[in-house]
Amino acid sequence: MRAAGSLTAADLFPGGVSSPVRAYGAVGGDPPELVRGKGCRVWDSAGREYVDYVCAYGPLILGHGHPAVLEAVAAASAAGGPFGVTTEGEIRLGALIRERMPSIERLRFVNSGTEAVMSALRVARAATGRDLVLKFEGCYHGHSDGLLAKAGSGLATLGLPGSAGVTAAVAGQTVVVPYNDLDAVAAALVANRGQVAAVIVEPVAANMGVVPPAPGFLDGLRRLTADAGTLLVFDEVITGFRVAPGGAQELYGVRPDLTVLGKVIGGGLPVGAYGGRADLMNLVAPSGPVYQAGTLSGHPVVMAAGEATLQQLDAALYARLEATAAELEAGLREARPEARIARVGSLLTAFVLDFASFFNRLRAGGVLVPPSQYEAWFVSAAHDPTAVELTMEAARGS
Ligand SMILES: *Cc1c(COP(=O)(O)O)cnc(C)c1O
Repeated sequence: MRAAGSLTAADLFPGGVSSPVRAYGAVGGDPPELVRGKGCRVWDSAGREYVDYVCAYGPLILGHGHPAVLEAVAAASAAGGPFGVTTEGEIRLGALIRERMPSIERLRFVNSGTEAVMSALRVARAATGRDLVLKFEGCYHGHSDGLLAKAGSGLATLGLPGSAGVTAAVAGQTVVVPYNDLDAVAAALVANRGQVAAVIVEPVAANMGVVPPAPGFLDGLRRLTADAGTLLVFDEVITGFRVAPGGAQELYGVRPDLTVLGKVIGGGLPVGAYGGRADLMNLVAPSGPVYQAGTLSGHPVVMAAGEATLQQLDAALYARLEATAAELEAGLREARPEARIARVGSLLTAFVLDFASFFNRLRAGGVLVPPSQYEAWFVSAAHDPTAVELTMEAARGS
């Protein structure tokens, strides 16, 4: 890809990308030069069309260029801002989130999921007066220093256990245990009695391929954390407003103390949010002593995109998402009987032995999936039977 004279992406950006999961090292070849998207389809600069299951890695639950989102963004842009004050749109989106996710009594908007996780854990440490955080192997919670240990897709694709540049002191404040292993959680809480501020979890793991919570796992976490005086933090950056109207916490009926959101709530624009029990969120400045701030937080254009997106997410839409994703799952099982398919709602992973060849077969057949075995495919409300049929054909190959 060439632009700005003769400079290439590889000349300008490390690995040619602004985020490691976008690199094609694991599958070979160069990423397509995508220039346009509409619904479930994207086009490259040569006019080639693809069915898109990357969907920006989660935010585009309505697909590309949904008219209501485009209209809201245009109107909010035309109105000027950001204004450096709280706006109506921010209140409306906050209220929509709280209504659908009642564990969130109060919340704050930030600019990314990374920032939201980092801030939620700061609150947890302040509330408990404890330093340690327990996370699970394979769960990704953004790229803040303390959370890069065994952090799923991006690192796993590159074969990295964690990140250079993280101090031993910071890394030492994260305890890592296997996902879906309640005994390991119980043991870690005993071994670090009185020191664990929070257990943070992806209630459906979606950054090591899709791994659903084992029956009783989330309930067990709720019980164990409550007994240990530890806060339970759900990272619903992917699952929030995707796996159910009220996220994974509604789907599995478990109420966390704090929740982290991102992706879908920004309608495709940069966003994050964290929220939960009012007594905890009241610790955040200026009502409390936990400092956290953001120049562009609650940006009116982002809030408008998020509100327009959430407004589309009614029962009928979730039913359609589920039906499409179920059809895709069945189609893939038929086309690739050897694949192991994991799916929760519109999150799906096809585990295959030779991912690179599967990826390139799909690509040649006009279907784009994330260039990593560990990344979920995202089905949007814009995916239709024709797209699913095309996907099956591409998966079957010749
Ligand atoms: C994407 C993601 C994040 C980080 O969000 P960014 O906006 O990329 O910083 C955090 N947690 C989970 C579960 C994610 O999937």
